[in-house]
Amino acid sequence: MNKKYEVIIIGGGPAGLSAGLYLSRARLNSLLIEKGLVGGQIVNAERVENYPGFPEGISGFELAQLMHQQATKFGLETLLAEATGIELKGEEKVVKTTDGNFTARAVIIASGSERSKLGIPGEKEFTGRGVSYCATCDGAFFREQAVAVVGGGNAAITEALDLTKFASRIIVIHRRQQLRAARILQEKAFAEPRIEFLWDTVAEEIEGEEVVKRLRLRNVSSGEKSVLDVAGVFISVGFQPNTAFVKGVLSLDAAGHIITNEKMETEIPGTFAAGDIRQNSIQQAIAAAGDGATAAIYAERFVRG
Ligand SMILES: Cc1cc2nc3c(=O)[nH]c(=O)nc-3n(C[C@H](O)[C@H](O)[C@H](O)COP(=O)(O)OP(=O)(O)OC[C@H]3O[C@@H](n4cnc5c(N)ncnc54)[C@H](O)[C@@H]3O)c2cc1C
Repeated sequence: MNKKYEVIIIGGGPAGLSAGLYLSRARLNSLLIEKGLVGGQIVNAERVENYPGFPEGISGFELAQLMHQQATKFGLETLLAEATGIELKGEEKVVKTTDGNFTARAVIIASGSERSKLGIPGEKEFTGRGVSYCATCDGAFFREQAVAVVGGGNAAITEALDLTKFASRIIVIHRRQQLRAARILQEKAFAEPRIEFLWDTVAEEIEGEEVVKRLRLRNVSSGEKSVLDVAGVFISVGFQPNTAFVKGVLSLDAAGHIITNEKMETEIPGTFAAGDIRQNSIQQAIAAAGDGATAAIYAERFVRG
């Protein structure tokens, strides 16, 4: 039998946890469903310096734990399972999970995004054996070794800076001539002697034996090919929204994000989306938390009528 809730939240990142805090304080019977580690992507941030209230900064892991603790304190229930499908048509919406089906009057989708893959030869084979998508998780395996970071946005430069604690040389491979990362991150990276940059360059193949040994590169302007000896390749080339379980049920934009209005309402009444998953999100923890609060308040109005 389906277990019934007033609101179900899919995803336990900053958006889902903030929604959970507001809903549990509103005394709505709510369930948060999380498929991995509660906390979402912010768990991978070594230090969060732009979340208000922490003048000295805070580790992403600790911030996530505090968010979960706060929501749980007010009664939020958490289920560790993956949402695999959703039915939004009826009065009671159904969320199908790896741990059974659950129903609710309203659903908040806060399933965020995960790292995009490069899709080059060697990437899949060497994942976990030199290829990584998380410097905070794997940086310590590369003490005093040379590593490459592929990408030029905020996440890539944050990764490169994190790696300076361990690696002897960090080579940032970027397909353009300028970084897209925030100025403050760029300033930090340019001032760091261990970080080097290869501009106008793309990674074409990752090679090794048991573990990664080298990266094959191509300069996009000259076409010149080169080989870089590295022990690790950290890939940070964007994010893929986690919307597989809503395909065909909700309209998505070209990049796969859920379209909402300013109340976080989707096209289906009683169905909301919040955080990185929604179109035009600025993909920051504070914005995700704000979206979660907005979605929760309008979900409460929907449920209570
Ligand atoms: C390395 C790194 C550093 C960052 N540093 C900062 C920073 O300093 N400041 C800042 O503001 N932002 C930072 N960010 C961005 C920030 O982490 C995100 O904007 C924020 O986490 C988005 O929150 P969210 O709740 O929308 O989604 P997410 O954090 O992506 O959380 C979504 C959750 O949903 C779960 N999920 C997905 N699909 C399903 C499913 N089918 N069933 C159940 N659960 C599911 C996922 O496992 C995940 O836990 C950083 C990100 C990274 C990767």
